[in-house]
Amino acid sequence: MKEIVYSVIAPACNEEEGIEEFYRRVKDVMDAAGEEYELVFVNDGSRDSTIDKLLKIQSRDRRVVVLDFSRNFGHQIAVTAGIEHARGRAVVVIDADLQDPPEVIPQMIEMWKQGCEVVYGKRVKRKGESAFKRMTAFLFYRVLNVLSGQKIPKDAGDFRLLDRKVCEAMKTLREHGRFLRGMVNWVGFRQAKVEYVRDPRFAGETKYTMKKMMRLAGDGIVGFSARPLKIALPAGLAVCFLALLYLIAMIILTCVLTPPPTYLHFVLAAILGVLGLVLCALGIMGIYMGRIFDEVQNRPLYILRGKYGGENGG
Ligand code: UDP
Ligand code: MG
Repeated sequence: MKEIVYSVIAPACNEEEGIEEFYRRVKDVMDAAGEEYELVFVNDGSRDSTIDKLLKIQSRDRRVVVLDFSRNFGHQIAVTAGIEHARGRAVVVIDADLQDPPEVIPQMIEMWKQGCEVVYGKRVKRKGESAFKRMTAFLFYRVLNVLSGQKIPKDAGDFRLLDRKVCEAMKTLREHGRFLRGMVNWVGFRQAKVEYVRDPRFAGETKYTMKKMMRLAGDGIVGFSARPLKIALPAGLAVCFLALLYLIAMIILTCVLTPPPTYLHFVLAAILGVLGLVLCALGIMGIYMGRIFDEVQNRPLYILRGKYGGENGG
């Protein structure tokens, strides 16, 4: 068998109305690319006839691989499974609802051939999505970047091409709360973008419920920033400092004013001071928890693009 050059991964959850059209469009694009390819579908616990349709497609087309989950594990896990089973030298992750137009794939491939190792799709326009979804997405990316101190590309979803080396690096990240966009950014490599217009869904409705979206946002923020944990320490120090200023001011005023200010001010300063100390203690715990979190995530310390020379080098 010839070497597989491209893998296209599509997670699908209850996509019976659109899956055949999706297959047709991807097949047209990939046939035109002129290299051996495979199309990996991950059926993420669909409750409709998606799996039957996929198996029918698979029986006709041997380039199709179907991974059938025992239940719904979620989009991010489905994509992870796809990446783990993909065999291509370049791997494209795309939604099965035709919101990411397959016709953009050749542009991604072109940039990959020029040496880019990650080509992500940046949505310049989103058709057919609610104002609420667009606004929450807009805010989410900005908050995430402020908190994480990383530059996770704004308005880029999971539609992207990954070089084989990037896929191998992704496999070494075993965390359970998965936020793939952040993880792809974390592993590094030469990244580039192509801009595209996000189409409306071909059929059906979004499978990303509010709950799933919140969970994803949580995984993004918690997995990629320890800042919320540590914020209590500077806040506590500031409160302690204020309490000290208050106390000094009251001591001075007690000396110069007659009658002196009421003792209640000292009680207030003491309460403020204790509050500051408690906040500091929480912040210090936060720092240790951040460390524990890093250790538990157990990400590799570094990722090599290659090794040149030496025993196994070329
Ligand atoms: N999806 C999935 N598992 C889920 C939710 C979604 O595999 O639990 C798939 C879905 O079939 C689609 C892709 O992930 O191919 C993106 O989901 P969706 O279109 O519902 O999200 P949106 O585009 O609205 O953010
Ligand atoms: Mg969609």
